[in-house]
Amino acid sequence: MRIAFIGLGNMGAPMARNLAAAGHSVTGVDLASVEIDGVSMASSIAGAASGVDVAITMLPDGGALRAVAEELIPALTAPACWIDCSTVDIAACRDVHSTAKAAGLHALDAPVSGGVGGAEAGTLTFMCGGSEDAFATAQPLFDIMGAKAVHCGAGGAGQAAKICNNMILGATMIVTCEAFALADRLGLDRQAMFDVVSTSSGASWSVNTYCPAPGIGPEAPSDRNYAPGFATELMAKDLALAEAAAEEVGSQILIGRRAAEIYRTFLGHGGAGKDFSAVLQMLEEASPAEN
Ligand code: NAD
Repeated sequence: MRIAFIGLGNMGAPMARNLAAAGHSVTGVDLASVEIDGVSMASSIAGAASGVDVAITMLPDGGALRAVAEELIPALTAPACWIDCSTVDIAACRDVHSTAKAAGLHALDAPVSGGVGGAEAGTLTFMCGGSEDAFATAQPLFDIMGAKAVHCGAGGAGQAAKICNNMILGATMIVTCEAFALADRLGLDRQAMFDVVSTSSGASWSVNTYCPAPGIGPEAPSDRNYAPGFATELMAKDLALAEAAAEEVGSQILIGRRAAEIYRTFLGHGGAGKDFSAVLQMLEEASPAEN
């Protein structure tokens, strides 16, 4: 396929590289100057998108998505397929879906889980919203960039799944960190804590795969001085999307909202630039008065 790939940052660059390595013709565009093996770079979105079968976007937020959509949609020729893999607010997602549809394009929101490691290894999970046709067109590309793609429903369903998943992850990580900090103060050995919880009803991805306590469990950002991984800024962003979505539909997210507040606080207390699991450090330092 001829593919335009817009947004070649931490995630987009390895995804584009994998598509090119699998034999697709990939033309990339980014605001920054980027070099990627096998990917030819264009100087404009219109230049990259002209005549392609598929356009993929991997952008920071809904604002960037709306800005790119203005240039991308007129540059694509129907019935090209646009796959947006960014994590964005539901409103931006729905707006660009309807503009793309009006232009005769197939569109899919397909945010991902799996992080930079998953993007590099081609083991991402894609959660998709859009038509059956769009999903079928995108499936062979998901097979290259990922290990699993789930068609969740109509346009916006992929973003909804992503927002809900990350709300669970964000809240679970905080309570995991609280439990390790409490266990420390109770004099419980961290390895014993891990051995019990990882095989008991408290088990979760946050404990078993991404343990926030350094030196415990499989290799994780905590073992690399909390270099991300998944940056606290991104988790705060995703929880803000959950808050906005819950507001829009009148859903009560008591723990999700509290988790969002905690990551925002953490960003002002040493969390900027660190993996979101480093919230353990803030909780370890908390004095009783802060309870
Ligand atoms: P990033 O900031 O590293 O990359 C985004 C890229 O988009 C940058 O290179 C930027 O220059 C480019 N860009 C922005 N506006 C542009 C425009 N108008 N035209 C062309 N290029 C433009 O971000 P990332 O870590 O690659 O994340 C991308 C998306 O994936 C985000 O929505 C994020 O929430 C989501 N995500 C990230 C991770 C992760 O672990 N990093 C995991 C899952 C999902």
